Amino acid sequence: MIVFFKHSATHAQIAELQLHLKQLGLESQLVPGKNICLVHKLTDDTILAGFDFISHTKAISSSFQLSSNQYKEETNFDVNGIPVGSAYVNIIAGPCSVESEEQIFKTAEFLSKHQIKFIRGGAYKPRTSPYSFRGLGKEGLKMLHQAAKQYQLNVVTELMDLSLLDEVQQYTDIIQIGSRNMANFYLLGELGKIDTPILLKRGMQANVNEWLLAADYILSGGNDKVILCERGIRSFDPMSRNVMDVGVIPLIQSLSHLPILADPSHGTGDSRFVGALAKASLVAGANGLMIEIHPDPKKALSDANQALSFEAFETLLSEIELLKPTIKKLKPTSYSLVV
Ligand code: PEP
Ligand code: MN
Repeated sequence: MIVFFKHSATHAQIAELQLHLKQLGLESQLVPGKNICLVHKLTDDTILAGFDFISHTKAISSSFQLSSNQYKEETNFDVNGIPVGSAYVNIIAGPCSVESEEQIFKTAEFLSKHQIKFIRGGAYKPRTSPYSFRGLGKEGLKMLHQAAKQYQLNVVTELMDLSLLDEVQQYTDIIQIGSRNMANFYLLGELGKIDTPILLKRGMQANVNEWLLAADYILSGGNDKVILCERGIRSFDPMSRNVMDVGVIPLIQSLSHLPILADPSHGTGDSRFVGALAKASLVAGANGLMIEIHPDPKKALSDANQALSFEAFETLLSEIELLKPTIKKLKPTSYSLVV
């Protein structure tokens, strides 16, 4: 159950309530900065009568609480003036890895020419093999940041480990938590303590409940800027890298107020199918796309097979342009495509 306090509630009153609950065997957890408290295992709020600094309560029927749309209807916020959230559509594009100044500046220039507001690129890469290219590290972050600054773009890059938090935070506008770290609960808890928006990718074996509970780890720490990103799940079939779960987009939207992006690059692993799944995801209601592009895809040092060339990305953008009226009709009036 979520307990909402009146603004006038004092620390002493809340501490008294928590002690009372503890004596009844109920654990409670304050959400920093939000004037709310989660009371675990409480379904009937009659025991709260008499605590008149409580404004109201909400019983949430799912195991995930703060990511549930029973708690809140929408999540919208802005990133340096660009609106992001469940009422918007944004496109994030860029290479899998930052490889060189030339590569990242060319990409940034190309994106800004097309009014794209977010550039992605990994500097610390999670690679299956320790012998593969693992990113340029801090040098890569600096290049990405410089290129973004020059072309007025916002940066999205992956954080692999808590030890790199300060460094990554310095160079990025949105922190990406990759599929392999979705279940790194200690890391997620720490991200709850900061204010930087978090793009939380779906674990490749994670079900929806596990994914939303991972989001709750961040939200319950007080950081409410969480964006989900479907990036495909593992299946039995080696014919495709992953199975892009387009159905999860309306499913998540029926359960959660959090925005959900689609990453058809990792979702398919094949540049030939990225466009089809990108369009399908937008029509299914996605709040945006994350697409891997490269000035020379064949030479990409990671995920070469799924990177779109600039030309292929331009074709996709023109197809999305045609879809805009349809997407708008399928969505509430507040909806706007930020491209
Ligand atoms: C990526 O975005 O480059 C990446 C590694 O993604 P994922 O965590 O979804 O595999
Ligand atoms: Mn990649």
